[in-house]
Amino acid sequence: AFIVFEGGDGVGKSTQAAKLATFLVDRCGLRVEVTREPGGTEVGRQIRSVLLDGDDVAPRSEALLYAADRAHHVARLVEPALDRGEVVISDRYIDSSLAYQARGRELSVEAVRDISRWATDGLVPHLTVLLDLEPDAARGRLAARGEADRIEREEGDFHARVRSAFLELAGAQPGRYLIVDASQHEDAIAATVRDAVVQVLRQ
Ligand code: C5P
Repeated sequence: AFIVFEGGDGVGKSTQAAKLATFLVDRCGLRVEVTREPGGTEVGRQIRSVLLDGDDVAPRSEALLYAADRAHHVARLVEPALDRGEVVISDRYIDSSLAYQARGRELSVEAVRDISRWATDGLVPHLTVLLDLEPDAARGRLAARGEADRIEREEGDFHARVRSAFLELAGAQPGRYLIVDASQHEDAIAATVRDAVVQVLRQ
């Protein structure tokens, strides 16, 4: 099964991905691959540094670089692990591009969707967990963590638009999404996520 965590910066995606993986391995005896984009592979780590280490990447270039990272990630890591019968948990996937590159950078949703579909050969997650948090609260968590990258530093309503894009995507396909209030305690969030994932794995 392919499980994805989505949401803005600082909402707790990597913490929840790790907690879910521990549960699935220790309690369910499953083989699990935890990964992320951008940067889940060696090629991806190089693309990640191109994307995030500089000060400026033109929006269409940014969209293509995220798609390039995703194409390699799916072909070399996600699909092979799924073929081996493992559970793959990814911190971000296509919805991040629809939220950040389409809504955030004001690129065409259709164009971003099309390049993402092409990049992934149509691979769709079994469940996407959207960790929803008000951007100011998320910013507080990021500040506590230390340095912010080029995109986390975006100002104005950028992060509010990203948040509403995620909520709209999830709202349009409720069967494939779990929306979780990420202001809750991390253990409460983990329990909600666990229940939903167990349901998906039973199907
Ligand atoms: O989630 P992570 O911190 O690894 O993402 C790295 C940076 O890339 C973050 O600033 C995130 O907001 C941004 N990002 C993006 N578009 C994506 C995925 C991530 O702008 N499709």
